[in-house]
Amino acid sequence: MSNTCSKTLREEIVKLKRKKNVIILSHNYQTQEIQGIADFIGDSLELAKEATKTDADIIVFCGVDFMAETAAILNPDKKVIVPSTDVTCPMAAQLSAKLVKDVKTKNPDIPFVIYVNSYANAKAEADVCCTSANAAKVVEKINSDVVFLGPDANLAKFAENRTGKKVIPIPSNGYCYVHKEFNVKHVEKMREKYPDAAIIVHPECDPDVQQKADFVGSTSQMLKFARKCDYDTIIVGTEIGLIERMRREIPDKTIIPLHEVICKGMKLNNLKNLFEALKFESNVVKIPEDTAEKARKAIKKMFELL
Ligand code: SF4
Repeated sequence: MSNTCSKTLREEIVKLKRKKNVIILSHNYQTQEIQGIADFIGDSLELAKEATKTDADIIVFCGVDFMAETAAILNPDKKVIVPSTDVTCPMAAQLSAKLVKDVKTKNPDIPFVIYVNSYANAKAEADVCCTSANAAKVVEKINSDVVFLGPDANLAKFAENRTGKKVIPIPSNGYCYVHKEFNVKHVEKMREKYPDAAIIVHPECDPDVQQKADFVGSTSQMLKFARKCDYDTIIVGTEIGLIERMRREIPDKTIIPLHEVICKGMKLNNLKNLFEALKFESNVVKIPEDTAEKARKAIKKMFELL
């Protein structure tokens, strides 16, 4: 898209925003053009919180589908719109509502903690939600020494290591294909090349990658670490969108990707489809109210535990 074209689109989006009382929320993995027009940029937890605070009539949610579902669940009286309906998360699809229900039926005494990276109907069957920023805290606070956590097996292991509780991953091998791309060789290579740098990674990375890192955290926690730490160079193990944000917002530090990885779904939103969705108020996220009500309980339980 030419600069003139994207400038015109930006101006048109800003006009529509004012006219329709709109807030645009963007995940850290969105493209720079989407982050640039957003009112708020954050990780899943920050976006979920922001969605509960807004008095806008329309939320344009720029992330993947399960995130927009969460915003819709928390805002039943607002219109939640997504730029593209093709933006899906393969990890969320790895945990069906049926699987959560079957596990719960067979093990009624073990709480099921569901990662926010899951669909509304699966959340509706779980006990409490968590995000990558608070998974360990939620597991810690829950009144049981054994919990189920899905769909990300690496996040389950991370929560187990942090809390000392038994965290059983459901399914046993759920994963994010983006964070699976990082391996120990990437860490070792970067350590050798930049011995004075900090290496920070996301808890969706494999446990051996996490073990070799200096810090493990959600995207917002990595951003905070990069802002506050004394290191001049930070090697970042997550999707490229966060690295671009860090470079924009922390220009005095050198930010280097551990290995360049892209979440393809996240990049399907752009100014053109955002403008069209907002203009025609199309791509409205709809969740059946009985599902939304049950899923809301799991999300609210997370906020209560924190
Ligand atoms: S980065 Fe991984 S978990 Fe996040 S939206 Fe993309 S595929 Fe899903």
